[in-house]
Amino acid sequence: MKVILFKSSLFKRVVQALPLVGVIVLMACSDVDKTEPNAEVKANSNQSLVVYSSRSEHLIKPVFDLYAEQTGVKIKYATDKAGVLIERIKAEGEHTPADVLITVDAGTLGYAASQGIFQAVDSDIILRNVPAHLRDANNLWIGLSLRARTIVYSTERVNPKQLSSYKALGDSRWHGKLCLRTSKKVYNQSLVAMLISAYGENKAQTIVESWVANLAIDPTVNDTQLMEAIIAGQCDLGLVNSYYFGRLQNKVDDLPLALFWPNQTESVASGVHINVAGAGVLKYSKNVDQAKAFIEWLVSDDAQSIFAGVNQEYPVNPAIPVDPQVASWGSFNDSKLPLSNAYKLQPAAVKLMDRAGYK
Ligand code: FE
Repeated sequence: MKVILFKSSLFKRVVQALPLVGVIVLMACSDVDKTEPNAEVKANSNQSLVVYSSRSEHLIKPVFDLYAEQTGVKIKYATDKAGVLIERIKAEGEHTPADVLITVDAGTLGYAASQGIFQAVDSDIILRNVPAHLRDANNLWIGLSLRARTIVYSTERVNPKQLSSYKALGDSRWHGKLCLRTSKKVYNQSLVAMLISAYGENKAQTIVESWVANLAIDPTVNDTQLMEAIIAGQCDLGLVNSYYFGRLQNKVDDLPLALFWPNQTESVASGVHINVAGAGVLKYSKNVDQAKAFIEWLVSDDAQSIFAGVNQEYPVNPAIPVDPQVASWGSFNDSKLPLSNAYKLQPAAVKLMDRAGYK
């Protein structure tokens, strides 16, 4: 597949038809962090690699199949929740059959790195294809696809001209109109960690307090429920990961919701808060060269299109065009703050949300 290079920033991309994505059904898929415990390693081959993944089977299998087709290397895999897989890798120690862990959220990837289960990957291809803020400083983990946590609003009750930044969701204009997902979810912990990274702890707390003061209803269990609350008129706007919006868009005709890209003009904390699905090579991998080659392939053209496209995410490689449906939501500048801060500042974020009364 031809790589098309665009001169502008990550999301100022021209939409291109993706021939390879055509073979993938863009399905309304289950939450990546709600994978069924499925501990059995699958497939078999002489030349093979073992991947543990907290990403659901239907989001990874098309990519693994393409890898086998192109390289002859089969991927055996097990899926489960991230925490379970990390504990399993630790318990297996040097006897682990696994070579690579794939999971979501920079906070979770940072936690995995802190547990000493990864080894640094030295690769010019990764350095070239993955922007520095989307991987660990020592390349213990590497972002593979990118999601935006952004504002979703009712197209019936909100004029997007009234929207500007994450901070402005705390304006009195939105009193009794804001919905938030629970603070227990890692996505919000990473978001608040990045607010701390951008503004410092005091100002970040003031922002979160102003959000809590504007809440229309108790925090929702998940992003989909939040959007359903807006549709039901319980609130007018909130924050969601972009791909959940895409899934609902595929389920509901004439969805009365739209995404807004905040922080496009603000000098402090400029850019939309983004996060990644990513991978690391395990410290006790017996196939380090193959594991590295697999991750290099994942950040290359074909795999990037598919890996991002199946979950309506954005490629991390800015040279790869985005899926047409995702592109229809508009372009934006993403925050360039290093995502490794998400893990470092998560403990402070959790305490801050507690102090701010964000349940
Ligand atoms: Fe998710």
